[in-house]
Amino acid sequence: MKLYSYKDLTKQEIESICLRQLEDDITIRERVSSIVDQVKTRGDQALFDYAEQFDKVQLQQLFIEKEEIYSIAATIPAEAKTATDTAYRNIKAFHSEQSHRENKIETMPGVTCWRETRAIERVGLYIPGGTAVLPSTFLMLGVPAMLAGCKEIVVCSPPQKDGKTNCYLAYCAKLLGIEKIYLVGGAQAVAAMAYGTESVPKVDKVFGPGNRYVTQAKQLIQSTTMTAIDMPAGPSEVLVLADDTANSSYIASDLLAQAEHGVDSQTILVATSSKIIDETIAQIQIQLEALPRQDIAAQAISNSYAVLVNSLEEGMEFSNIYAPEHLILSTDKFEQLIPLISNAGSVFLGNLTPESAGDYASGTNHTLPTSGYAKAYSGVSLDSFVKKITFQHISPRGLRSIGNTVEVLAEAEGLIAHKNAVSIRLKSLG
Ligand code: NAD
Repeated sequence: MKLYSYKDLTKQEIESICLRQLEDDITIRERVSSIVDQVKTRGDQALFDYAEQFDKVQLQQLFIEKEEIYSIAATIPAEAKTATDTAYRNIKAFHSEQSHRENKIETMPGVTCWRETRAIERVGLYIPGGTAVLPSTFLMLGVPAMLAGCKEIVVCSPPQKDGKTNCYLAYCAKLLGIEKIYLVGGAQAVAAMAYGTESVPKVDKVFGPGNRYVTQAKQLIQSTTMTAIDMPAGPSEVLVLADDTANSSYIASDLLAQAEHGVDSQTILVATSSKIIDETIAQIQIQLEALPRQDIAAQAISNSYAVLVNSLEEGMEFSNIYAPEHLILSTDKFEQLIPLISNAGSVFLGNLTPESAGDYASGTNHTLPTSGYAKAYSGVSLDSFVKKITFQHISPRGLRSIGNTVEVLAEAEGLIAHKNAVSIRLKSLG
């Protein structure tokens, strides 16, 4: 882990260490582009072929339905069922609070404007399932989609070795009332949802994380089809800001939790003393030994760094420039830092709030902006599954009050038909 002292860094150096390596691998781009073309032209047949090529399964059909989903769901171990139920309840409770009705506003006498929310009708959820199957992602996307009232929720996840889905995903589908799971993974799943095939319906917006093929395919279809995506995705990241009230073994566990995601995960420690940094590095070595994914975690840690700052406030200044996906405030003084946060995806307060709680079960969404996009993007929420439509109504009194303003502005812009659309009505009002 590299070590920097904040006060010795120039502005350019700070910008440079905050820069993520955004992968633009031409080989991946070309491969994904060819997969997308194949799905577009050959539909289902391409999906069967890719399942055989990449997932090593010969599928009889591209989906499983309610009866089979329910029978697989019934095999979920009792402990996992209880934990999934708790996570589902918490995620549902948190996201239910995000639905707000806005007031109608009379901007001038007789001119009434308002916004109403409508669900995106057809959404596609990609649930990763290559190296690990991620039921937590299913809940994080499925719960807000269900609460928003999306009419059609298309779920794609790679087939498992038996050509089915596993009990955890099946159980989530049952909880969410989803009656079909498409056994399609990778770039081909994204393409299928963007273009539609004989089996997979076309959707209006594609959600979900995934590997480099999935991410690249989302970028591609966003620019080539009338399909939106949830957000640009990159490798996961965490920034821990700590002072002397922090516990170095907790910090190490949080950094390693992020590091085990992938070799390109970013884990950053910002601390007010070198004692915390040294103790955390020692703890990382101890905890790393016991991790099944220690090779991945060790490589991610070796690419990460620590920054020594003079104060928590200085640490916040750095954190806001970095704009982390996850920010952990490992300090008893977290309350005073909250107003100073301007850029972060999701924030974890105090020494007893591990980021894993948000990954799985506390209720907040774990689909968050990475690569500095937290400066401009929010994480997935109920809002991601809806559109806000504006309405206005103008009464005779309203037309008399606003009419001249519109006429003058339209004339100033030389758009006389615009002016006429008002004048003709005013005239008929007399
Ligand atoms: P995945 O479901 O994303 O990808 C598996 C699919 O990739 C396969 O079905 C196959 O179709 C395709 N594939 C495999 N090899 C290929 C090749 N050589 N060419 C073309 N396509 C190929 O599952 P995964 O691979 O386990 O990756 C999951 C990813 O999701 C991880 O990188 C993880 O970090 C990320 N993730 C991110 C978040 C987040 O919120 N940021 C959350 C969960 C998971």
